[in-house]
Amino acid sequence: EQEREVLTWATFGDASRDLTEKIVDDGFVPDIVIAIARGGLIPAGAISYAMGVKAAGTLNVEFYADIEETLPDPVVLEPLLDTDAIVGKKLLVVDDVADSGRTLALVIDLLKVHTADVRSAVIYTKPRTIVQPDYSWRETDKWINFPWSTLPVIT
Ligand code: 5GP
Repeated sequence: EQEREVLTWATFGDASRDLTEKIVDDGFVPDIVIAIARGGLIPAGAISYAMGVKAAGTLNVEFYADIEETLPDPVVLEPLLDTDAIVGKKLLVVDDVADSGRTLALVIDLLKVHTADVRSAVIYTKPRTIVQPDYSWRETDKWINFPWSTLPVIT
């Protein structure tokens, strides 16, 4: 059994504030925060409140079937983002982790068709990622346990 990076709810709270500070210190004020669902939903919510940016959207992408078991390619699921709403806007794309980076790369490519300034923020970056996020809290090469997806589904 491989060693894990365990993120608790309390540490996530601090991490989202620290990550937002990096973005604000850099002078970037997005018009819209875009969450990559589902992993980026909770980070994006925390960041949008911490930044005071009310406009938020989501783009639903599925890639991982299980721990370290992926689909052949990341796929965008319904409902789709309203692309009319993002034309010419400054966007901050938020996800939990850039692992292979393929999800982030796909989403950035999709959004760049509609607007010039697309930046990305993640809690974790793994060394193998194919795209370097603009803002990242920490780097790890371990499998990460996020507080929202570690406990079993309630039935
Ligand atoms: P990527 O496209 O960068 O390989 O990762 C896509 C998604 O897979 C991430 O947004 C995340 O939801 C999930 N994922 C990748 N690595 C990890 C990990 O170490 N732990 C967890 N819990 N999910 C991961």
